[in-house]
Amino acid sequence: TDILHIVGGGMAGSEAAWQAAQAGIRVVIHEMRPKVETFAHRTGDFAEMVCSNSFRSDDDEQNAVGLLHWEMRAAGGLLMEMADRHKLPAGGALAVDRDGFSAGVTERLLAHPLIETSAEEIAELPGEGQWIIATGPLTSGALAEAIRAETGEEALAFFDAIAPIVYADTIDMSVAWEQSRYDKGDTLEEQRAYINCPMTRDQYEAFIDALLAAPKTEFREGEMAGYFDGCLPIEVMAERGRETLRHGPMKPRGLTNAHDPDVKPHAVVQLRRDNALGTLYNIVGFQTKMKYGGQTEVFRMIPGLSEASFARLGGIHRNTFLNSPTLLDGEMRLRSRPNIRFAGQITGVEGYVESGAMGLLAGRLAAAEMQGRRLAPVPPTTAVGALVTHITGGAEAKTFQPMNVNFGLFPPVGGFKGGRKGRVERYRAYTDRAKADWRDWLGQSRQSAA
Ligand code: FAD
Repeated sequence: TDILHIVGGGMAGSEAAWQAAQAGIRVVIHEMRPKVETFAHRTGDFAEMVCSNSFRSDDDEQNAVGLLHWEMRAAGGLLMEMADRHKLPAGGALAVDRDGFSAGVTERLLAHPLIETSAEEIAELPGEGQWIIATGPLTSGALAEAIRAETGEEALAFFDAIAPIVYADTIDMSVAWEQSRYDKGDTLEEQRAYINCPMTRDQYEAFIDALLAAPKTEFREGEMAGYFDGCLPIEVMAERGRETLRHGPMKPRGLTNAHDPDVKPHAVVQLRRDNALGTLYNIVGFQTKMKYGGQTEVFRMIPGLSEASFARLGGIHRNTFLNSPTLLDGEMRLRSRPNIRFAGQITGVEGYVESGAMGLLAGRLAAAEMQGRRLAPVPPTTAVGALVTHITGGAEAKTFQPMNVNFGLFPPVGGFKGGRKGRVERYRAYTDRAKADWRDWLGQSRQSAA
């Protein structure tokens, strides 16, 4: 009759609940929405995607996040099942219809006979019982305070940025065109999944000037501390150098202007479909802390967007995360209170998929512990194992920052040549090894359950 309590029904909490319940454990999910809101969530659904609608690359042979998809699917993951069911065309990326996705996750969790939900904010660190805290980057203030009081560490707070969303019918398609970079994708729809806006050199230079001049939201002291390169606001990229954006989100490579095939654009702004209907597009990589008024003005300088209207402007957000390498043991338990596990973005992974993966693992570990089973440590050669190894010990505690999954976290495989061909073969070796080891680990887990 032991119950596993999970705080937070986001990416991690939803997957943790599913995994534990599938293992035969009774679960209560404590979720504060919609009673208590965050500034980024819009609904009361579980597993709401707060920003981009992409789970990133679905390539399980050459990409570490694609490999993580594969591992989660192999483990019967609920998030991946729903992502696959609500997939949108997006070249090589796994983009989903966000409303269909979270509604699907919610429905499945509510229908599970072993899962109950409780609509409440947990404001204190729980005492007795088995708990997983998966309250994410926007952990409520009261709980964050309680965690800080227990751990004695400053839980780091920093800001990421949100990319703006444009109404598709306000994009001027006599200027813009549909194409995925290098025409990637199996179907015509996928090969045309992005909308591209071309810039001449003069237009690019004027755009950079406007970006640099636009009023920005100020940071408070110390808030810059957590910035990491994967999610830099465009104006910060522009501050680093006038060419930085042209080599980043505005790179023209692999794109041919359908209206003027002979003229190579100096830079290209890409928009990615944001919903199933195809009515909304987000500007890829254009997270920003420009003030709202300035944003509209600056983004309308982009050829094709001169008449654009915005469903949502870019913004900045808080991210709460633990210094996991010092606070958590290898099974994601708080060292000082081992009846409490942490999972998701609060453990210092970054991204929907990574957060979900840490939920998947925490749910399995908690279930095994409650059933008196011992699971072998997850091999660090797998994507799940590489991530959990990183946050619970592999990372430097002093400089610990949120981490996306990447092959740099994996134990190296030797014997490959340099250059592109060597890299293709090396990544293939990483993913082959990971799949074999993950299958083994899942097999052992099943045996320990039998
Ligand atoms: P969440 O999905 O946020 O789930 C945590 C849940 O806990 C929420 O439902 C919340 O309501 C609940 N909760 C919080 N405190 C309490 C409490 N005290 N009691 C009860 N319930 C509580 N990742 C990407 O991959 N792509 C992106 O584009 C992206 N954009 C982001 C934009 C913003 C504004 C933010 C904040 C984050 C973004 N992230 C993005 C990062 C991150 O991957 C997601 O936030 C992801 O949802 C994290 O999963 P999680 O389960 O850890 O947290």
